[in-house]
Amino acid sequence: MAVQPTRIGLAGLAVMGQNLALNIASKGFPISVYNRTTSKVDETVERAKKEGNLPVYGFHDPESFVNSIQKPRVIIMLVKAGAPVDQTIKTLSAYLEKGDCIVDGGNEWYENTERREKAVSENGFLYLGMGVSGGEEGARNGPSLMPGGSFDAYKNIEDILLKVAAQVRDSGPCVTYIGKGGSGNFVKMVHNGIEYGDMQLIAEAYDVLKSVGKLSNEELHGVFTEWNKGELESFLVEITADIFAIKDDKGDGHLVDKVLDKTGMKGTGKWTVQQAAELSVPSPTIESSLDARFLSGLKDERVQAAKVFKEGELARIWKGGCIIRAIFLDRIKQAYDRNAELANLLVDPDLAYFDSYRRERLPANLVQAQRDYFGAHTYERTDVEGSFHTEWFKIA
Ligand code: NAP
Repeated sequence: MAVQPTRIGLAGLAVMGQNLALNIASKGFPISVYNRTTSKVDETVERAKKEGNLPVYGFHDPESFVNSIQKPRVIIMLVKAGAPVDQTIKTLSAYLEKGDCIVDGGNEWYENTERREKAVSENGFLYLGMGVSGGEEGARNGPSLMPGGSFDAYKNIEDILLKVAAQVRDSGPCVTYIGKGGSGNFVKMVHNGIEYGDMQLIAEAYDVLKSVGKLSNEELHGVFTEWNKGELESFLVEITADIFAIKDDKGDGHLVDKVLDKTGMKGTGKWTVQQAAELSVPSPTIESSLDARFLSGLKDERVQAAKVFKEGELARIWKGGCIIRAIFLDRIKQAYDRNAELANLLVDPDLAYFDSYRRERLPANLVQAQRDYFGAHTYERTDVEGSFHTEWFKIA
């Protein structure tokens, strides 16, 4: 229990909330924390002690949590998007006062933020929808922050955000006020769409190097490490290099080969594509990466299709009758007859879908490994049932 009121509160202590709370505390701001499941409160306070007696104060009930924060209060929520955010606002609102600020740090649909900002303003509360990027590691050591909504709310929390955000030499803290309404969430949504595209691009490069070039994981580690030294230098290329070096702790070989090629998603990529379509903005890379995630999810169908559709069969049945019949299809068929391993059809967009559909194994295992690396999103394995998480960055 804090003797003095704390500077800020944070509700929702899963991966993101717990790490952001510790980050805020480590920058010298005493913080109150609360979570619906109270064991996570104790866990966070324990971790704060271990990481250098950081000023993190835990509360098991929302009333004492809210009352422990200095006025006007600022509370960051980091709970699952959607109904849990509405429920958390309802729980906290019972104890908040006029002028207090609620900040939703989750990946929320921007119109929900605008609805909530309007609703809480009737009680005199201020509201921000703040995109937080950087996953687990970013939340702990410096995320990129995209706050949007009430400018007064932003000003109440600006001193904290400037210190907590990632600091880039010559460019300053990675935070700026984005604008009114749900603009912070909208910008974060597009950021995540770009992330989908980047990850799929890397996965396809991996697929070509592994399936066509026959590179081993050691060689892939070398290639991505090299790429990370030049113009491709980036976080995702860096963690991809790390992933190829990690051995499976449950058996032989590398962990990446045991990760099931089934990519999860939480919605922001789909929203980006929907918004792009709504605004008639072309977004082919993001759309393709979203399709690739849908396809990766059809694992059982793909396993069946891999058995049914053999190389070259499609080119044969399209030679007559159909609209795309052409003499060229015969050449494709012959090419496959000569070399069943031929990969050139992968560059054709329509056939690429089909080719992906009849692949028992896609490079989606890498995307899922990346998601678990930076966001603790967990993965399934090819050999053991269940959901797994690896602290990739600690062993890389
Ligand atoms: P999460 O798995 O999305 O959510 C878990 C948290 O939500 C827990 O604190 C849970 O409380 C709480 N919660 C769920 N239902 C609730 C309800 N009905 N009422 C109150 N609390 C409820 O956690 P996360 O991965 O840390 O993400 C938090 C937010 O940040 C999400 O919006 C996510 O999209 C966003 N985000 C995540 C990442 C990432 O890399 N993971 C990156 C950027 C942004 P209990 O413990 O009681 O279940």
